[in-house]
Amino acid sequence: MAAWWRYGVFSASLKTQLREGSFVDIGRQTDGKRVAVIGGGVIGCLTALYLHRLGANPVILEKSQIGRESSWAGAGILCPIHPWLYPDSFTHLVDSSLSMFPTMNTMLEELSGLKTEWRSSGLMIPMFDDDRIHHRENALGWSKRFGWKVEELDNRQSREHEPTISDQIAGSLLWPQVGQVRNPRLLAAVRKALENYAVPIREQAEVSGIGKNGQGEISSVQLATGESIETDAVLLAAGSWSGELARQIGLELPVEPVKGQIVLLKDEPGKVNHIIKHDDVYLVPRVDGHILVGASMERVGFQPGTTDAVVNNLLEATYRITPGLKDASIVEQWMGFRPGSPDGMPYLGPVDGQPGLWVASGHYRNGVALAPGTAEIMSRWIMGETPEMDLSDFRVDRPVINLDKVGFPAAA
Ligand SMILES: Cc1cc2nc3c(=O)[nH]c(=O)nc-3n(C[C@H](O)[C@H](O)[C@H](O)COP(=O)(O)OP(=O)(O)OC[C@H]3O[C@@H](n4cnc5c(N)ncnc54)[C@H](O)[C@@H]3O)c2cc1C
Repeated sequence: MAAWWRYGVFSASLKTQLREGSFVDIGRQTDGKRVAVIGGGVIGCLTALYLHRLGANPVILEKSQIGRESSWAGAGILCPIHPWLYPDSFTHLVDSSLSMFPTMNTMLEELSGLKTEWRSSGLMIPMFDDDRIHHRENALGWSKRFGWKVEELDNRQSREHEPTISDQIAGSLLWPQVGQVRNPRLLAAVRKALENYAVPIREQAEVSGIGKNGQGEISSVQLATGESIETDAVLLAAGSWSGELARQIGLELPVEPVKGQIVLLKDEPGKVNHIIKHDDVYLVPRVDGHILVGASMERVGFQPGTTDAVVNNLLEATYRITPGLKDASIVEQWMGFRPGSPDGMPYLGPVDGQPGLWVASGHYRNGVALAPGTAEIMSRWIMGETPEMDLSDFRVDRPVINLDKVGFPAAA
């Protein structure tokens, strides 16, 4: 993987800053800049934590409970699905964010006393002769260009690494350094860290509008209850609801929910070691023997609940890819709404013509992998630093281009 400094976002990264002192000692504050963060998912919460550390005075406004939407539901794979399908700028952003994961994780675990289960489990893509899409060439080319270590394995070697895998595969590609994190644990650690720093978290606080002063600058947010909260800046980090809320405040932001269903299996710990991905299905093994199988891509608005058809498809695919899991027990199933964007990439930055309004949303399938990078970029940008990295591909007013395969799926 690329060295962390290769895609440094600011001249002195948070990593350098954090290295200088104990994580637990730096609690400060605060009569600094007031920032109302709309949305208590991983993006809003982590950015609020980083803002606090930079001397700002953030408040998290969450319409229900923090960390219970997409950020809870996701699989926690720390690598995009088919990263070679995106523009290079996206890989730069991913590399930069992943390089910050170790420091962020140490900080969170020290501050919270909780384990996130962040670890390198590796990622394997088995290949069948009748695959619909053959990714081999593009995957190898992309890995070489961006310095992601990859190995090509034949059938026997693949099955030595993963004994449950089908004997019908032609071979596989293995990225041994790809990581994963257990989402609910990550979110619990972020919450505890925020509480330790006494960063205000307002739950059941749905934002319905923003207010401006005579100069047209953001000066307040309105809650659905009618309450008004004064602020110097607003960060829109409302996940799948960002598009809707943006419209209410006069901004066109094409963020929409893309529903994903997951099935949880349980087998003996160590039965599956790597994340295994084939076509649209992946298996993510946790250390205690749980295996997440995901995930559907459904453009059905905010339609809640899981469906038998999708669950059966996921199980069918699992038994074809890894017949050795036929006896694994089915524990439960759930769903979440990914904050989708037409080109699969997040919107990051200020809003032209609305001074004080910032956006960090549309992280789609990669919000956990992109969380530390987003938090660093947005917190420092809001506090007045200009990013050195070229972030123009992520600007809020970029043209809407529906990128095949990584953007929105066809509407149901
Ligand atoms: C099935 C599935 C699998 C996934 N797998 C992965 C993966 O392997 N790796 C990866 O990196 N990413 C993955 N993702 C994507 C990742 O989970 C998301 O990109 C990320 O969690 C988005 O975080 P967020 O904070 O923007 O959104 P959310 O976690 O959805 O948080 C947004 C919050 O804003 C709140 N909110 C909304 N409107 C308002 C309002 N008006 N006022 C106040 N609060 C409001 C919501 O209640 C919510 O809590 C997956 C997602 C799903 C669903």
